[in-house]
Amino acid sequence: MTGNIACHIFGCSDPVIGQCKGYKDACGRYFCKAHSPENLCLHCYDEMWKAALESIRYAKPQTSPSTGS
Ligand SMILES: [Zn+2]
Ligand SMILES: [Zn+2]
Repeated sequence: MTGNIACHIFGCSDPVIGQCKGYKDACGRYFCKAHSPENLCLHCYDEMWKAALESIRYAKPQTSPSTGS
């Protein structure tokens, strides 16, 4: 076998299908098919949702959704 990469989930022995590109910072964790929501590792996926929920919480309801150029 070449390489010893494994899914970032401890104990997961599923075949790795890719590498996390990171959400805010570079990540590099490997993930299997079952642990790659949005092509992110679960750590970055969690960070993404935290940020999304924060933005919703602090978003003003009257703000126009138009965020064009
Ligand atoms: Zn896995
Ligand atoms: Zn990641």
